[in-house]
Amino acid sequence: MSQEASPVAPAIPHFELATQWQLIKNDVESAIKEVLESQQYTSGAVSGPFIGRFEANLSKFLNAHAIALSSGTDAILAALMALGIKRGHEVITTPFTFFATAGCISRSGAKPVFIDIDPNTFLMNLAAIGPAVTRNTRAILPVHLFGQMMDTAALLEFADAHHLDVIEDAAQCIGAVDPKGKQVAENARCACLSFYPTKNLGAAGDAGALVTRDEKLATRFMQTRQHGEVTRYHHEFVGGNFRMDALQAAVLNAKLDYLPQWTERRRQIAAYYTRRFKGTDVKPPVEIAGSKHVYHQYVIRAPRRDHLRDHLTKQGIGCNIFYPKCLHLQQCFADLGYKKGQFPMAERATQEVLALPVYPELTDAQIERIATTVLAFYRR
Ligand SMILES: *Cc1c(COP(=O)(O)O)cnc(C)c1O
Repeated sequence: MSQEASPVAPAIPHFELATQWQLIKNDVESAIKEVLESQQYTSGAVSGPFIGRFEANLSKFLNAHAIALSSGTDAILAALMALGIKRGHEVITTPFTFFATAGCISRSGAKPVFIDIDPNTFLMNLAAIGPAVTRNTRAILPVHLFGQMMDTAALLEFADAHHLDVIEDAAQCIGAVDPKGKQVAENARCACLSFYPTKNLGAAGDAGALVTRDEKLATRFMQTRQHGEVTRYHHEFVGGNFRMDALQAAVLNAKLDYLPQWTERRRQIAAYYTRRFKGTDVKPPVEIAGSKHVYHQYVIRAPRRDHLRDHLTKQGIGCNIFYPKCLHLQQCFADLGYKKGQFPMAERATQEVLALPVYPELTDAQIERIATTVLAFYRR
């Protein structure tokens, strides 16, 4: 056996920010310096200069009122609180999502009601909503998972017929449009965004936003982020401290300009993978006709998923399972009484999905190596 080690290709992490930092360093450093020198660190029911600037630019980008908040989780909780959703109410959502979606419903006092997903898209199955509606249902909380929006017109039509609010969990889909070309908050009361550092638009820490086309609701959201304060020290309802830091707003404002080009690169990488995986054992994600998927995650269905994951890890390629456990089976929701096997499509997805690297800074050589390494596993 040769003693010479074969040259090991450098590892490709599932996600990294170091390459991006080189691109944005100057913009972000001067934005941060401006905040520090002004010492205008925060704002309340009325936005200060840095929050205001970011909100104005985000509003333009999304064609709706944007209210800067402390995190994506807080955006969901603030939306539920602002819309008066509380104990005794039910909110219908998906069990195949990040925990915050259902965690916030629970924290509002309402009961999360889960329905199964569409196995093609991993999105909430519209046809399953009807049977889940009861006298207590107040809202539907769809998740535009992995960066793809569900058909919001169909959802809104159903919601209107049943007098339900639609609150979109848009944490993963900034910049996406749905199959009929609609943006977030266009066919919903509001949409919740997250700027967690790994999201398509990431802050330097925690941040989020609420987006709505309803001006009155926008005002209510601003009050909600400042403890329900309507005029200084007069609280008409209970909100929270859901404010975004000015430092985060400045960072996000500097990065927002890059988002369209980053999104295009994500879509380009995804299109490349999908071409490579066509007709193989790997099932690429389905992009719904007409919709613009922004590929927060590129999630395949993979036979022998855990073995593929080990193979990629050994080859220095980062990958991740989103999500390994459905929310209806989480211990904290045991009292809701859901059983294993109740949502077979969502449960099956947890066994088969694997997210490959799709961040915009990946080079052509890297994505070529990733696709080739995945396919080589099935050819052995
Ligand atoms: C990230 C995320 C959230 C929560 O956002 P944070 O900013 O991390 O609080 C909620 N829902 C989904 C689907 C997410 O991906």
